[in-house]
Amino acid sequence: MPLPSDLREAAEEIGPGVVADRRDIHQHPELGYEEKRTAALVAARLRDLGLSVRTNVGGTGVVGVLRGGKPGKTVLLRADMDALPIQEENQASYASQHPGVMHACGHDAHTAMLLGVARVLADRRAQLAGTVKFMFQPAEEGGAGAQRMIDDGVLDDPPVDAAFGLHVDAERYVGQVSVRPGPSNASSDRFTIVVQGRGGHAARPHRSVDPIVVGAQIVTALQTLVSREVSPIEPAVVTVGSMTAGTTFNVIPDTATIKGTVRAYNEDIRALVQERVGELARGIAAAMRASAEVDYRVGYPVLTNDPEKVELVRSALSEVFGIEAVVDRDPSMGAEDFSFVLQRVPGAFMYVGVRNPAWKVPRPVHTATFDLDEDALPIGVAALAATALKFLSE
Ligand code: MN
Repeated sequence: MPLPSDLREAAEEIGPGVVADRRDIHQHPELGYEEKRTAALVAARLRDLGLSVRTNVGGTGVVGVLRGGKPGKTVLLRADMDALPIQEENQASYASQHPGVMHACGHDAHTAMLLGVARVLADRRAQLAGTVKFMFQPAEEGGAGAQRMIDDGVLDDPPVDAAFGLHVDAERYVGQVSVRPGPSNASSDRFTIVVQGRGGHAARPHRSVDPIVVGAQIVTALQTLVSREVSPIEPAVVTVGSMTAGTTFNVIPDTATIKGTVRAYNEDIRALVQERVGELARGIAAAMRASAEVDYRVGYPVLTNDPEKVELVRSALSEVFGIEAVVDRDPSMGAEDFSFVLQRVPGAFMYVGVRNPAWKVPRPVHTATFDLDEDALPIGVAALAATALKFLSE
């Protein structure tokens, strides 16, 4: 069935409201599991539209259910609501009012866009065949809010047949939407290695076991995991992001602490790296008369898009925006906890370009000067609405 021809117009019409919501949320950013104000705003908007609303799902999550006038399948659309611990440096009138907290990953836009989708689809409730479930999740940034909402039943009652979501894309220009079949975002795990040496006077190193030198060997050895143990045609990352030890120039400390992240695109490599980080750290420490304790935390799984659902997204997007707006996405080593949803339900995650054509360089996410071109907001609204309608009409 063809999509309604006025979908894009409908999204443009409510554009000012979506922009206002985005700015409101941007001014009041909240960290993971603290999204109380944002969740209250979301719940109020959904209730105004006549949806049935459940709050405090998996912490501060909100679920809205829109039942169409005709029977059919159930599709889930998802947005994340949390901000980052970054001090915003932008001077916009709607800049963050919370010191040290900023919507630097566009989750304010995701939330505002999904509220816009709810409005567009609620306006067509009578013609809608099936049910649309709106998932507003807490704590995407490391807190696994999606998993908490799944544990709290977001995929049940009614059970979900397919799931879709989107993320802003700071690299691509407004007007482009990208998606790729299969793996699209990496798995993400983290580790902490505590090297236990024996401190002492810096002038008598032979009477100490220097954890800094041991730690340096471990950091160097970790670089060989990807270069020497993972197939060169498989993507993987091991990054040490923090190494701390000691307090002054003439004391050998007792311990050194190393923190890092591991990204992969397949579960075998993920498991291999996990095993080898521990073996290398403990083995090198032992060889140098120290010991190492390794705390390895498994995080988000690989985000895998269902090829059929990617085709559905592409066809919905080309119908609404024209084929030239739909581009292939390169795989990313960034992680996304929508992967927990896509582990259980087939679906797809798309990326909406938010770069203003006049910006000579992108304004990347997770930086204090991240920004997005708000002209992208109605595009995201129309993209998700079209995808949901396409799925329900199939
Ligand atoms: Mn994000």
